[in-house]
Amino acid sequence: MDYESLLADRTTGMSASAIREILKVVSQPGMISLAGGIPAPQSFPMDLIEELTAVVLKKYGALAFQYDLTEGFLPLRSALAEYLKQKGIFLTREEIIISSGSQGGLDAIGKILIGKGSKVAVEAPTYLGALQAFNPYQPEYVRLETDDDGVMPESLEEVLRCHKVKFIYLVPTFQNPTGRTLPLARRVQIAEILQRHGALLFEDDPYSDLRYQGTQIPTIKSLAPDNVIYAGTLSKIFAPGLRIGYLAAPAPIQRWLVLSKQGVDLHTSTFNQALAAEYLNGGYLKEHLPKIIDLYRPRQQAMLAALDRYFPKQFRWTRPQGGMFLWAEGPEGFDLDQAYQEAIRRNVAFVPGRYFYSHVGEGLATMRLNFTMFDETVLTKAIKILGEVLAEQLAAQAGAATREKLKIAGR
Ligand code: PMP
Repeated sequence: MDYESLLADRTTGMSASAIREILKVVSQPGMISLAGGIPAPQSFPMDLIEELTAVVLKKYGALAFQYDLTEGFLPLRSALAEYLKQKGIFLTREEIIISSGSQGGLDAIGKILIGKGSKVAVEAPTYLGALQAFNPYQPEYVRLETDDDGVMPESLEEVLRCHKVKFIYLVPTFQNPTGRTLPLARRVQIAEILQRHGALLFEDDPYSDLRYQGTQIPTIKSLAPDNVIYAGTLSKIFAPGLRIGYLAAPAPIQRWLVLSKQGVDLHTSTFNQALAAEYLNGGYLKEHLPKIIDLYRPRQQAMLAALDRYFPKQFRWTRPQGGMFLWAEGPEGFDLDQAYQEAIRRNVAFVPGRYFYSHVGEGLATMRLNFTMFDETVLTKAIKILGEVLAEQLAAQAGAATREKLKIAGR
């Protein structure tokens, strides 16, 4: 039977996530994987989850196991409306829709807004999972230029002037993959540009609570509420396996999101939403978040210190004030592929940065490094090994380039 012939056109845009493929390779015993993008299991409040499970059973009984509103469990939406105030987002609970992770929100937006050839503006590099969610709807990506402070407002202005984009996708705080954060001045400029062009932004914000230094920066949603769909998640501040995300979208879009979700899963797990509602309403996030931060902050510092000490001087890297990732970049022309293979042989993995670009051939000298999964000693060891591998590969590529030049000169 020819199953391939049955596939819809949209599957041409669907490919196995390169990162998932990498994660398969690197899950071998003994491997120190800086490739993953997942929270440390020690960051899950297991004892509390046990207590809250009992609370949910007692308080909600069978309701926690019944079908519920597509928009989401009301106590959770009330809790989120309260929680979002500290991010400058003032909404009623009716204006919030629960999604199955923020990933579910990305797919829903793709489904209702992207048609074949629709233009979607994305940062280069950007979150791979967003591209994966959007690809089946066959968009055409328009590239937004970035520097060390994230997306450049001039680039957004230019893109909106030259293209009719459906929406812009940004991760403005502690971006995945780079860890970069848009400073306030740029957010204000971007909010103004969005309003002036009547453009829509998808602000994906899974990491802003994981802040190890500095002070919180207002969300773009708080600066241009009518132009922004804001997506949040409890994955990094509670437990990702519960799959609790949420969207705050302008009302006309919200209506379509609900219709779309009805066709996908009717609603997100009632029990998990009830657990999340108790976590937020009981004030446990305030208690637990500092513990997650205390776990990750020294890990990030250890990785930064090791990079300073062991990475070749031709490399530069980001120094984010939070999140889960650092982004390192080698000299122009350096191709990290060989280094990746050699690092795997020495039991250290990372994600080559090229996977985070929507266009092929970019980011060959870049890498994403995750620091949440291992303790300081292991991270230091991994960076030391990586530093050695990179130094060797730099020398090898420089040697090859010299030989090539001599060959040309000798001809
Ligand atoms: N957006 C970004 C930028 C992410 O890094 C992630 C998780 N890797 C997600 C969305 C999806 O998270 P979740 O579905 O668990 O909420």
